[in-house]
Amino acid sequence: MTKPPDEERGESMNSKVSEVIEDYKSYLDYLKGMGIEALPIGRTPQEKDSRSSSATLKDVREELGDCKRCKLHPTRRTIVFGEGNEKARLMFIGEGPGYDEDVQGRPFVGKAGQLLTKIIQSIELERDEVYIANIVKCRPPQNRTPEPDEILACQPFLLKQIEIVRPKIICCLGAVATQSLLQTAQKITALRGRAFDLHGVRVIPTYHPAFLLRNPERKKEVWEDMKQIAAWLKEFGGAV
Ligand code: URA
Repeated sequence: MTKPPDEERGESMNSKVSEVIEDYKSYLDYLKGMGIEALPIGRTPQEKDSRSSSATLKDVREELGDCKRCKLHPTRRTIVFGEGNEKARLMFIGEGPGYDEDVQGRPFVGKAGQLLTKIIQSIELERDEVYIANIVKCRPPQNRTPEPDEILACQPFLLKQIEIVRPKIICCLGAVATQSLLQTAQKITALRGRAFDLHGVRVIPTYHPAFLLRNPERKKEVWEDMKQIAAWLKEFGGAV
């Protein structure tokens, strides 16, 4: 007995969907085999390269202005926009400014920042060769963890900074930076040292320098991550 056309169409649609899911599964297996454990979000690198945008970090800073987009603004002293090389191949993203950063208007200049500088130098780079930013640009009161609405308000600006710098690698420092950027609830212990993909940029989470100050025995894991980053930079080639 011949099936009604609607039923036939439905079955063929189902088999197409199964085919696509199977293809996708093998693509995920392939990525996993390459050491990449998250999916690219948004544009592919090819699409990204064909994008015509001449915006600069200065433009983004101007657009941010005297930001009052979230509830952190009344208690901050300074907006800590981020600093470093506009063409950096390596970008570090932390959680948010602390006391020293809030006073000086620069990211990672306190005790944790001094350790970050040493971490950067451990792979023979200097701070001015990388780009350093934070998930939120204003200090949360008493250095509390930034809240989701604050992270969301700041996110478009961080994403623009990433688009402009176009680093090859982003090293996320700690749980908050990693979970917000990769939109995952997984623990930093489960994420650290793994390779993820964000808009065609390789992302590697590692421990936050402030955590290392409290747990110096964990420095060796960060050292492993830095060696991985140095190897990737060598593999990718290019200056800075
Ligand atoms: N901790 C961060 O996450 N960012 C800074 O800029 C300083 C300390």
